[in-house]
Amino acid sequence: MKKIEHIGIAVKDIEASNEVFNKLFGEPHYKTEAVESEGVKTSFFQVGPNKIELLEATKEDSPIAKFIAKKGEGIHHIAFDVEDIESEIKRLKDEGFIVLNETPKKGADNKLVAFLHPKTTNGVLIELCQEIANKE
Ligand code: ZN
Repeated sequence: MKKIEHIGIAVKDIEASNEVFNKLFGEPHYKTEAVESEGVKTSFFQVGPNKIELLEATKEDSPIAKFIAKKGEGIHHIAFDVEDIESEIKRLKDEGFIVLNETPKKGADNKLVAFLHPKTTNGVLIELCQEIANKE
């Protein structure tokens, strides 16, 4: 793994939270994106070299809705940048981690993503993400 790519925070109302984090960082989010397949709306903030992703559920059975119902708002996942997501998935499976989606899926922010079950990572949901190469 190369570095922390971003930290994901589950929120109930992304518009209201955008204002809160705008005040906190002194700068507004630089993009918003809906990921239909996951039932989420996201916004991204750049803080120096780091990124923060806010996530709001857009449907009741979205993983974010379930998370908030169970635990309330707060840090939802930590995402790590990887060079080759397929080989990382294989490596981590061999190490005994439970990979939630063994086939990487398209996530927000032009990334291929896969998640590790928090059961095998001390309660922390881990996201692996690999930048999708821009086709020229
Ligand atoms: Zn994320």
